[in-house]
Amino acid sequence: MNASAGSEPELTTRFAPSPSGLMHLGHAYSALFAYRLAQSAGGRFIVRIEDIDPGRCKPEFEDAIIEDLAWLGLDWEEPVLRQSERLDIYAEALEQLEEMNLLYPCFCTRSDITAEINRSGAAPHLTRHGPDGPVYPGICKSLSKAERAARRAKGDPHALRLDMDAAMAATGPLTWHDRTRGEQVARPDLFGDIVLARKDVATSYHLAVTVDDAAQGVTLVTRGNDLFAATHIHRQLQALLGLDVPEWHHTVLLTNNKGARLAKRDKAFTLRAMREAGTDPEDLWAMTIRQIARQAASTDGI
Ligand code: GLU
Repeated sequence: MNASAGSEPELTTRFAPSPSGLMHLGHAYSALFAYRLAQSAGGRFIVRIEDIDPGRCKPEFEDAIIEDLAWLGLDWEEPVLRQSERLDIYAEALEQLEEMNLLYPCFCTRSDITAEINRSGAAPHLTRHGPDGPVYPGICKSLSKAERAARRAKGDPHALRLDMDAAMAATGPLTWHDRTRGEQVARPDLFGDIVLARKDVATSYHLAVTVDDAAQGVTLVTRGNDLFAATHIHRQLQALLGLDVPEWHHTVLLTNNKGARLAKRDKAFTLRAMREAGTDPEDLWAMTIRQIARQAASTDGI
């Protein structure tokens, strides 16, 4: 649906966890944040399981996520969409980009990339990084058509990368809106030729999340500040694929007592541990708000 087509679309938020571990207080904050916004606007709330990484995602973590979200008192639209079941949808998006001549196969290993970066002589601290690591130095971009075809025919494993220069030329300048930081000029070019289909799975976080947010009618993407840079890429993919553009709200990341971002290893902060310790789920929202206030106070040097 397009805003220009008539009435405003219903506010739709989502919580999109990867089932690679137990949820902790930071996840509870993200889930409750999105849920409460949808509730207060009488809108829709969606849970999506982002399980494209076969090495890290496990069904038992997916079960635990659903159990924890129910414990938190949330309800969401059924059925819950699972990204691992949508590879054909991502393949269509890749085909669309392929037809626009915006993709090229990349046969590099991680060490090929590191070696090339070292060879190019940039001091490590000057090497540009994007949301997926060091910016790709473009090795496979210069392969000829014949070389690409020969290596593909041989079955050499390859990823598909976005030709960023061509993509920038195709979209022209773009902007996006973050609810706390305001209007942003999209700068996906800072991150180079990003991977849209990995060697081991024929999609990537960027492609899957963009396609799915549009497919599910998400109008407000809420997620942690750690994904702020990725939004530049998602905005560009929306433009290339002709998808509706949501708003974004990037939130504070919760930290542990040492000031480090909460991680799966912070066992005491897992929702399961809190449940077992008898925490009242109704207190969770207030707990997250107190935690954020504490963090803000300590970074102010108080
Ligand atoms: N699946 C991602 C994660 O668990 C979040 C994706 C998003 O919110 O865009 O970190």
